[in-house]
Amino acid sequence: MKKVYSANNLMEAQIVLDLLEHAYIPARIFNQHAQGGVGDIPFTHAYPEVWIIRDEDYERSKCLVQTYEKTPATTGIIYCPACGEENPANFQLCWKCNAGLEIALYSGNTSK
Ligand SMILES: [Zn+2]
Repeated sequence: MKKVYSANNLMEAQIVLDLLEHAYIPARIFNQHAQGGVGDIPFTHAYPEVWIIRDEDYERSKCLVQTYEKTPATTGIIYCPACGEENPANFQLCWKCNAGLEIALYSGNTSK
């Protein structure tokens, strides 16, 4: 188990979780109830965290997370959720690794 992302809110954590799952990386969200009952949660664990199950997925997961974090809200260029390569926004598949790009579009449109 490794932590790959600390989210500001549960929605961000869920988007990252979806990205990982679409890349066939098993992952879980911890502290997902922190938004509702802060009084019950130690303050050091107040933010939702995304953890991957298999340590060997760590590098790929960090790449996905970085892609999510830098995906621009504007159209024009999107980043492949699998390999991080830049692609024209109208591409359906990454030119480099053939991964589907609709996930990158999705996160870009909803995060800003
Ligand atoms: Zn790619």
